[in-house]
Amino acid sequence: MLGLMQDWPLLCHRIIEHAAKYHGTREVITRSVEGPIHRTNYAEIHARALKVSQSLERDGIKLGDRVATIAWNTWRHLEVWYGVMGIGAICHTVNPRLFPEQIAWIINHAQDRTVITDLTFVPVLEKIAGSLPSVERYIVLTDKAHMPNTTLKNAVAYEDWIAASDGKFQWKTFDENTAAAMCYTSGTTGDPKGVLYSHRSNVLHALMANSKDALGTSASDTMLPVVPLFHANSWGIAFSAPSMGTKLVMPGPKLDGASVYELLETEKVTHTAGVPTVWLMLLNHMASNKLTLPHLRMVVCGGSAMPRSMIKSFLDMGTEVRHAWGMTEMSPLGTLATLKPPFAERSGEERLDVLQTQGYPPFGVQMKITDDAGKELPWDGKTFGRLKVSGPAIAKAYFRVDANILDEDGYFDTGDVSTIDGHGYMRITDRSKDVIKSGGEWISSIDLENLAVAHPAVAEAAVIGVHHPKWDERPLLIVQLKEGQKASREDILSFMEGKIAKWWMPDDVAFVEGIPHTATGKILKTALRDQFKSYSFPNAAA
Ligand code: AMP
Repeated sequence: MLGLMQDWPLLCHRIIEHAAKYHGTREVITRSVEGPIHRTNYAEIHARALKVSQSLERDGIKLGDRVATIAWNTWRHLEVWYGVMGIGAICHTVNPRLFPEQIAWIINHAQDRTVITDLTFVPVLEKIAGSLPSVERYIVLTDKAHMPNTTLKNAVAYEDWIAASDGKFQWKTFDENTAAAMCYTSGTTGDPKGVLYSHRSNVLHALMANSKDALGTSASDTMLPVVPLFHANSWGIAFSAPSMGTKLVMPGPKLDGASVYELLETEKVTHTAGVPTVWLMLLNHMASNKLTLPHLRMVVCGGSAMPRSMIKSFLDMGTEVRHAWGMTEMSPLGTLATLKPPFAERSGEERLDVLQTQGYPPFGVQMKITDDAGKELPWDGKTFGRLKVSGPAIAKAYFRVDANILDEDGYFDTGDVSTIDGHGYMRITDRSKDVIKSGGEWISSIDLENLAVAHPAVAEAAVIGVHHPKWDERPLLIVQLKEGQKASREDILSFMEGKIAKWWMPDDVAFVEGIPHTATGKILKTALRDQFKSYSFPNAAA
């Protein structure tokens, strides 16, 4: 027997309709690419998103067509986001930090028909446009006054393009399993892989993200997503904030410490979200200028492990942290670290122990850890295994790749290695490719990195496994010192001694000027392994 409830497909554009109706005057503030601060609200964004849909239809864009955006977090990007999805086209957010050849590969693989870009990326697109045969038109997110002279095909300024539509337009209703958006993983090996979200998965993910123990905002809060729309849907914030009427502050192109601080401070932001490198820049800026942020209640941090020292810095300034883990394939939220009973009462180092884990999943994500043969491993907080996940907002296949990516129980292998404890708290110890295999045992590179960055002279640290004749692999600690600071190999090793098992201690420390990052801010270990490929340990003969 079927239930007798209404057939109300979960469609992404219903979120912005809801925001316009019930939170219409809630503001969306942007540091625009052109420079000035721009203020609008959900009602206006909804009205202009309808014009985007109408303009796309005028251009012949139909259900299932891909429309690429190469753009920062701005109000215009949000209008495009909903306008594309409202007609059942697919909003393909492209990461502009990728190499031009990778951008071209991704646009060609997705077969994007229209590319909507910020002014910033016009020059790079002009260079690759000749190799993008599927693209029929480029729309530049600006007005006539700022429109550059460009060789891009059928280029038009966004404001002119939408001005030609009156906005009297009805969004479509279709099956909730229709594709809504896509995002390619920034894989460090092999070709990028396209993750294709559906309307249903995005709406369900937004509902998951809305809970107090997830992103934790409400209609009376203000959220600044430093995490870009092109990094896994800005972790769901572009859906969850409007669905709750949370005020949004969009940082545009400026993500340095001073610029982010300025917006957090002037807009009295209560919640913000971004990767650890962003918070490193913010904390450094605040420390060197003796600044405070009395309104900031919560920092959501994910994308890479949040170092313990960083968690402590935020707690010391009275700001809660929410360490989150996830991935593009998971829409992306997988777990978040909140203090559930009996941990809520903990204080000091014991509190940090829990906050430093990647946390436990919201309803809608299931996890397990297995060995290489697929056998489930115990949740004892010690045993490392391959982390596998299932849920309604988790990929079951990649776009135009004919391969099964799920195990026989329908779980997706995340490529991460983790432990899970008896309370369900998960702790990432490595990417499976980065784990250091020493004498048959595993050493967590993330644990070593977290410990090394707590040294006061260390700006950033990375650990890679280097071949060792006796142990197979041993850890090499690579350190970038803070500007103007000094520390020797011995200083750093003696700082780490006693805080980890003896056999986990790095065999050597190498100092570098800068640590390379991927397009989403993760340490680029493939480049470091390449850089140190002819390195051998001083004790290698032992
Ligand atoms: P992406 O799809 O670019 O978001 O990358 C997902 C990957 O980032 C995950 O599979 C993890 O390896 C890594 N990651 C994300 N969040 C965390 C975290 N909190 N701690 C450690 N690694 C993380």
